[in-house]
Amino acid sequence: MSKDSFPYESFKDALEANDQYIKTFKYSELTGVAQKGLAIVTCMDSRINPLSVVGMQSGDAKILRNAGARVTEDVLRTLVLATYLLGVNRILILPHTNCRMAQVDEAEIHNEIDSKYGIDTSELEFKTVKDQTQALIEDVVSVRSYPLLNKGVSVGGAIYDVTTGKITPVEC
Ligand SMILES: [Zn+2]
Repeated sequence: MSKDSFPYESFKDALEANDQYIKTFKYSELTGVAQKGLAIVTCMDSRINPLSVVGMQSGDAKILRNAGARVTEDVLRTLVLATYLLGVNRILILPHTNCRMAQVDEAEIHNEIDSKYGIDTSELEFKTVKDQTQALIEDVVSVRSYPLLNKGVSVGGAIYDVTTGKITPVEC
């Protein structure tokens, strides 16, 4: 194996922090079942700490993240597993204010990457949204109506405010 097979320099701080983390590690008794029955679908935005936002901790909830908190095939696949096998009985879809994916359109993102890096990403669909509330409603409805999801699961949509930390439920 070459010495580059794991890029230690790139992860130095993370590995050092982990050495400290394991000294007081207290979750070894947990299973993969979500103790509070919650799954949150949210954005990858680094300002959001999903467990803290809802007062939970390791073991309590399933967290699914992607750009824009969009419901994709892979999100549905994961929610099916979570609702049958991992104790999830409520799903909160949680996009946020000031999300880049709701501020630009598909073409603008492709153009920006192309002009800065010279790479054509047009084969990817980034799933930008024009109207964040409308997109959230559509995503909530698509989860609720997904035929393979376990019966009796509550599905709600809300928007997280990155300036106040507040979650505002949306009628979907
Ligand atoms: Zn975002």
